[in-house]
This record gives sequence, C-alpha cells and structure tokens, in this order.
Amino acid sequence: MAYHSTRGAFGIASGQAPQPFSAALLTGLAPDGGLLWPVKIPQVSAQEALQWRHLSYAQLAFAILSKFIDDIDGETLKQLCEKTYRAEVYSHTRATENAADITPLTLLGQEQGAYLSLLALSNGPTLAFKDIAMQLLGNLFEYVLHTQNQTINILGATSGDTGSAAEYAMRGKKGVRVFMLSPYGRMSAFQQAQMFSLQDDNIFNISLHGVFDDCQDLVKRINEDLAFKTRYHIAAVNSINFGRVVAQVVYYWKAWFAATSETAGATSESLAQVSFAVPSGNFGNVLAGHIARRMGLPIRKLIVATNENNVLDTFFRTGVYRVRKSAETQETSSPSMDISKASNFERFVFDLLQQDASRTRQLFEDVEKKGGFDLSSDPAFKRIAEYGFVSGSSTHAHRLAVIRDIAGRYGQIIDPHTADGIKVAREYLEPGIPMVVLETAQPLKFSETIEQALGRPCPRPVNFEGIEALPRRFAQMKADVVALKQYISEHCNE
Ligand SMILES: *Cc1c(COP(=O)(O)O)cnc(C)c1O
Repeated sequence: MAYHSTRGAFGIASGQAPQPFSAALLTGLAPDGGLLWPVKIPQVSAQEALQWRHLSYAQLAFAILSKFIDDIDGETLKQLCEKTYRAEVYSHTRATENAADITPLTLLGQEQGAYLSLLALSNGPTLAFKDIAMQLLGNLFEYVLHTQNQTINILGATSGDTGSAAEYAMRGKKGVRVFMLSPYGRMSAFQQAQMFSLQDDNIFNISLHGVFDDCQDLVKRINEDLAFKTRYHIAAVNSINFGRVVAQVVYYWKAWFAATSETAGATSESLAQVSFAVPSGNFGNVLAGHIARRMGLPIRKLIVATNENNVLDTFFRTGVYRVRKSAETQETSSPSMDISKASNFERFVFDLLQQDASRTRQLFEDVEKKGGFDLSSDPAFKRIAEYGFVSGSSTHAHRLAVIRDIAGRYGQIIDPHTADGIKVAREYLEPGIPMVVLETAQPLKFSETIEQALGRPCPRPVNFEGIEALPRRFAQMKADVVALKQYISEHCNE
C-alpha cells in the first residue's frame, strides 16, 4: 500500500513517488502541510470477512493491518501484532477471562428495540482507548527504526491522555526517547502520578511553568526550526499519525463480530448492520470507523458525539466547518474532547471529495485564512448521509444524568466521555440494529465528575492504589524555547 498527501504531495500529479507505510509512520505532516492517506482503501469481501469471525484480536489485527502495510514482511508484522495484543497488556481493570478479547463487548440492555452495548477500549495501561493504537506504534517504531538503523526523539505536549499513552507505549523501546511537555500543576493528581512515576531512562517528563497552549507553542516552535528538527531527529506521535488511525480500524471489525453473534442478541444474519457511537475530539477514532466501513464493514450509522465544543457536530448537521480559537474552546468535564479544530478531519474531507487534492488544499487553506469552509451546497456533502454519518452533542448536565442513569439502570460506572457517546447514541436507536458505544476511558481517571454524578467516589482497582505516593521523575522548566532546546540536546538520542 502506498500513501500520498491530502494536498497532493507524493500523488500522481506531483511527480514524487508515493510513500510506503513506514515512511507514513515516521513522517508527521507531509511537506505540503497535508496528511498521508492510502492511495486506495483495501476492500474486504463478505466471504473473506466471515472467515475472520473467530480470529483472536492479534490475528484479526494482522489480517487487517497487512492490507495497509506491505513494507514489513508478513511474519514480522504477525509477531508485532501478537506482542502488542496480549491479554496482560489490556487487563488493567478487568477480570482476565474476557481480557483475551482485548476489546470485549458488554451488553447493557435493550432500549427502543435495540441492543445497546459498550465496547471496552480502555483496559490498557493508561486506561484510555489511545493505548490500543499507541502500544502498536511503540512496537512498530522500535522495529522500523532498528531496520533503518535510525533513532528518534519524540517531542509532544499533553494535558493528559495522549502523553501518558505515548510514554507507556514507548518506555524501554530501543532507539526511541520521549520528551513530553505538560502544564505544571494543571493535570489531575492521577494523571501526574501516572506519568511522573515512570522511571525508564528513555522517558523525559518536562513540567512547564505555563498552560497547555504554552506547551503546544514550544513544540510548534521547535518543529519550525528545521535545522534543529533534523539534527535531533525530532518526531511526533500525535493523532495525525496514520499508524494510530489504522490500528483503530481493527476494533470496529472485532466489535461487529461480537455484536452480530447470537450471544449479543442480534440476528444471526451474516451481514447484519451495526451502528457505532464515538465520543470524538480530533476525529481519529471515528475516522477509523469510516475506513472500516469503506473496506466493506456493514456499519449502518457512524455517530459523531461531541461535547460543548461542537465544531464537528455543526459540520455534520449543516456542512459548515468553522474552527474556533483556543480561547473559544471550553474546558469541559470530558476534557479529551475539548478541541477547537479536529486534526484528522482533513483526511475525511479528502476522501469525501474523492481524493481531489487541489480542492482539499484550497479548503484547508481557507481554514487558515478565513477560519473555515462551507460544503452545504456541494454534491459531496450528500455522500455524508450515504456513509451513515450523523452527529450530536452533550453538555455537562447531560453527562451527569447519563452517568447516573447507567449506574442505576445497569449497575455500570462509565466515564464522562463515554457518557457523551451514550447520550448521542440514544438519539439514533433503531429497532433491531445493535448500537455499540465506544468506551474511551475508565471512570477512575475522572473521579471528580463521577463523585458529582453519583455522590460517591469511583472504586479504584488494586493495581492503581497508592500511585500518587510513588517516587516521581520529572524536570521543571520555564516556557522558554532556548532552555528546552538545551535540555533536549543534552538528553536526546544522537
Ligand atoms: C482522545 C480521546 C477522545 C477523542 O478521540 P479522537 O480520536 O481525538 O476523536 C475521546 N475520549 C477520550 C477518553 C480520549 O482520550
């Protein structure tokens, strides 16, 4: 499989060769500012899909990933999948019997004639769905860097979930060092403890005296200094990395098999349709669902659930995409969805426009210049309905009510992001169509909101007891690019 940019680089008209997967993995933005995307979405016939039904997660991951990755030999890729998708890695909160499923599906109950289930994606080491893709990325990076005799220094900024998932995936990996900036004193006690307690030599936590925007700003300034970036092999693992998107395609298939098996209560028809509701921020998770659908998975509705930061909901309802300034982005109780612009959205638009790179470039230049674009009267906008996309949003009050309702009705405690998903999913239930809501984090990470909703704190699994008291390893720094460069040059991989 070859990859080209959403703005034309490495495409047919560019005169440049399309890139293999490993290049897409190690490159952030394409040189023209676009994102990498496969030249063709691989197709899976119903016959082939049905043979996948009884595969383990690792086997299914291999079957799917090998359609996107052909520059790593099959045997190696299979081993990397097996090494990544082991029960031990995904059983941080659950009993080990169903941990072998990696992403087990739990039936909540029947509502309006539809089976409503939760897809557990957050039992990895950092208790958020980002582990599923990031753990694979750690193993892919280590392998690709080794074969190319290279090293990298990953630089990122985090306000919580992404940074910790990256660190837990990259810890101890040869050829990789991680420099992660976070705003001093602004992460939750649990998140700080998770990150700062890591003692691995290749992980460098930098607690910056500033806010999250200051952290992001420093990362941006370093990336603009091409000489520094090249000299120190600076790389990123943010949500635009295509390796992360493609890893997420796997669990849509896995969930479909589970939701259409008799135990989940659906019909036994082989190609039954299933709807998915996805708590969304940077549009990486739901984009993976779209790719699964484009491969041939019979997804009926793909539901984009947002919180008060409803840039995406507005687009799917009206065709108008209008990004916000970071000052206009609200801080909510589902913070991992607090975005002002959705960094993976350009890929979706490129696909919607049937890979018209010059139009995509123009639209996203309009985003920079005019703050957005309007596709409402474009014929391409009609395709959104064909693709099954619908959307909705929720508020803090909705989340509290849903957390309370699910605890009362089904005895399950869910986190506020998953609550956004359930709130919007309930607006699109149809009799006989299973509805799968993606559970993107464990409630333990957002204990304050749980306590506000239920009047009692969230129970803590034994292996997380007392993590706030563990010894911490982190540096403190002023928001100063010179000091940061100095620190990186002293601690990096050469
Ligand atoms: C990252 C994250 C999201 C948003 O996912 P995107 O891929 O950015 O749309 C939702 N919920 C949680 C808990 C997350 O960590």
